[in-house]
Parts: sequence; structure tokens; C-alpha cells
Amino acid sequence: MQKYDLIVIGGGIVGIATAYKWQLTNPNSRVVVLEKEGALARHQTGRNSGVIHSGIYYKPGSLKAKTCFDGYAQLVEFAKEHNVAHDICGKVIVATDESELPQIDAILQKGKENGLDGLKILGPDEIREVEPEVNGVKAIFVPQTGIIDYVDFTNKMAARITNIQKDSAILKGFNVVRIRNKPSGTTIVKSERGEFEAPIVIACGGLESDRLAKLDGVDAGMKIVPFRGDYYDLTPQGQHKVKNLIYPVPNPEFPFLGVHFTRMIHGGVECGPNAVFSFKREGYDKTSFSIKDSFDALTYGGTWKLFKTHWKHGMGEYERAFSKAKFLQALQKLIPGLTDSDITPARAGVRAQALSNDGKLVDDFVIQKGNGAIHVLNAPSPAATASLAIADEILNRIGTNYNE
Ligand SMILES: Cc1cc2nc3c(=O)[nH]c(=O)nc-3n(C[C@H](O)[C@H](O)[C@H](O)COP(=O)(O)OP(=O)(O)OC[C@H]3O[C@@H](n4cnc5c(N)ncnc54)[C@H](O)[C@@H]3O)c2cc1C
Repeated sequence: MQKYDLIVIGGGIVGIATAYKWQLTNPNSRVVVLEKEGALARHQTGRNSGVIHSGIYYKPGSLKAKTCFDGYAQLVEFAKEHNVAHDICGKVIVATDESELPQIDAILQKGKENGLDGLKILGPDEIREVEPEVNGVKAIFVPQTGIIDYVDFTNKMAARITNIQKDSAILKGFNVVRIRNKPSGTTIVKSERGEFEAPIVIACGGLESDRLAKLDGVDAGMKIVPFRGDYYDLTPQGQHKVKNLIYPVPNPEFPFLGVHFTRMIHGGVECGPNAVFSFKREGYDKTSFSIKDSFDALTYGGTWKLFKTHWKHGMGEYERAFSKAKFLQALQKLIPGLTDSDITPARAGVRAQALSNDGKLVDDFVIQKGNGAIHVLNAPSPAATASLAIADEILNRIGTNYNE
């Protein structure tokens, strides 16, 4: 049994940010991070769009709005100080027809309420000055949005933890299978390679977060449903058609932002991701399938309620997943001059999206206490941007004055 002051389960950006913030405020205490993969950031964190979100979309007063705004500042400061490649290049959110104008106004209003300065409304000619290939009737230019290397960011935070305290540890290849609280108030976390004990345990398991919570007796009335996002790359011939980041007006019924164009920090431009119900949580091919994950999702009433309400939208997403022509059509809404040879199929990511028993996609971040651990139960986008502020939020809930 190895004893620590804090155990963090999950070595994605949220787990590592939490361990890092703890270590920063409690330099003498010993932290262990247990990650089941052989490297950090293998799932959502290493497969996202690499965008630093400004916070414009989120409901004012929500945890997403608060932590995105605050996390943005902390993220950029850390990136500057520790040499993480990033670029605050700005983005445009583009309405391509009149029916989207009320949504543009609503997003602008939210952005202002969330404290963003310098937002600009662009007309068709001004849009073309920023993004010459884009066809739009009205757009918002968001100067705060940027791009970053989130894997490097996560690894650099992890390195700081063991620099601050040499007896802390980031253990890879440690799959957690059991969480048990002792009457003395400490918690035992069992991994396939040994047991660990600490007075405080924080679980940040991403796509596995509901299962970790269940191990700890939490019934949160929600389950993780995986939504795969496929990307295409712009081919070298198509790359000049995008300068920075181009986003559509999102469908307000979903927490996803719609297929967009993203210049990547290490070069190239990605298009996507779509949002397709996935039959495997950590499966990155179009045909990935897991009996356990599919059984879990398809025996859950919430999934069927979601299907019933949004079947038409879901079918559209499936069509786009299997048809390059349909995917291209969605992209051509923003850039009509994009051609079939401008795009080529690329990687995929899977979002961990909590779905409530009544079939609603849970919009805000959810952090909940179990018997022996605190669980991050819903941390979809913009949780990478917000990670350091989510860490503060978690640590505030347990009190940061913990000392040896
Ligand atoms: C396609 C896509 C695009 C996105 N784009 C953006 C974006 O541009 N900007 C942005 O801010 N956000 C974006 N997001 C969201 C962002 O990536 C996630 O919100 C964030 O990475 C969540 O971090 P996490 O640490 O909670 O989860 P993860 O990165 O998934 O990490 C969870 C970790 O827990 C580990 N784990 C799970 N179970 C166990 C266990 N039993 N034992 C030990 N370890 C375990 C996993 O192996 C994993 O490493 C995107 C997400 C996706 C999928």
C-alpha cells in the first residue's frame, strides 16, 4: 500500500491540471496521478481541435462560462512561461443565411455578458477581408480565440509537479479498478498494479468518468455517451483557403459547435469534427465497436430518449460520417469554393458527453462528491481551455489549506 496526500485518477488535461494546482499550493505534500495508458493525454486531450476557446458561447453564470474565462488567462500565462506553442489568432463565427442572424445576436450578447472585449460584427465584405474564401451574411470576429498544443501543455504541467515535489509521481499504465473509503476517512484506490491510499481522491476519468463514479457509489442520474468527431485535413492545394479559424453558427439544441476549420499550431488545417454516436468509448475508427460500451449505452433509457428526439439530426451526422460528399457539403456552407480534392480524411476524437436519465445532453460541467472521491463527471469542451480553472473549482470545494 503506497500512501500519498492526494490521488488523482486520470492523466488527461483536467487530472494533470488538478494535480499541478494542488502541488503548487501544497509544495510539501505528495501527489500521485494514476493513468491507465502508457502516456498522458491519449484520449480527449490529445485528440481535440487544439482551440483556446474565448468563452463566448456559454450561458452567463454557468461553470463553463466562469472557468473558461478564468482558465483562458491561466492557460495563456502558463503557455508563455513554459514555452508551449500557441497563437492567439482570433476566429470568425459566420452566419451564412438570414435565419441564423438571431443566433449571431444571441452569441454576441452572451460574449459581452461573459466579459469579452473587442468583439466585432462583420458584414459580407469585412468577412472576406478576414477570410477571403468565406461566404457569410454576418459574422462575429472573436479576437481572444487561439490555438495551442494541448499535449505539450499537459506534459509540461506534469513535469512541474515532480519538479516541485520529487516524491510526487505520475504513474502510467495504472488502470484503476476499485475505490473504497475506509472508516478512518481515507480512501483506498486499487489499480491493476498496486494499491494506493490518501485522504483526498479526485477522479478525472473523461470517457470513463461515470464508471469511476459508480465504483465509488455515485448515482448522478447521468451516463457518459461517446460522440465521435471525424476530421478531414485540407490538402496542400486547399490550405490557402483558410487563414485561421472559421466556425458556423452552432445549433443551439446541442453542446457541439458544428464542423469548422481550424489552423493547427504545428501546421496544416483541419475540418470537423462532426458528432456521431459511437459504439465504443475509446474507439477512433468509424467501425469501432465494444460490446460493453454499446450494451451500456443502449440499455440506458436516456440514450433512447435522445435518439427519439434527435433522430433526424443523428441520421444526418451518420451520413456525413460515411460520405465525403456530405461532409464536403457541410463545409461548403462556409467556403463554397472548397472542392473534393481540397479535403482528405484524417483522424478522429471521441467526446465524453454526459446524458441525463431524461435524455438531455448535460450542458454544464459537473463535479460531484462520492463516498471516497470527488468526481469530474462532465468535462466536455471547453474543458481543455478551462482546465486550470476547473482545477481551482475542485480544490476550492475541498479547501486548499490542506497541509501535511
Ligand atoms: C473531438 C474533440 C474536440 C475538442 N476540441 C476542444 C478544443 O478545441 N478546445 C477545448 O478547450 N476543448 C476541446 N475538447 C474538449 C477537451 O478535449 C476535453 O474537455 C478535455 O480534454 C477533457 O479532459 P479530461 O482530462 O477530462 O479527459 P481525457 O483527456 O479524456 O482524460 C481522461 C484520462 O483518464 C484516464 N482514465 C480513464 N479511466 C481510468 C482508470 N480507470 N484508471 C486510470 N486512468 C483512467 C484516461 O486514460 C484518460 O487519459 C474537444 C474534445 C474532443 C473529443
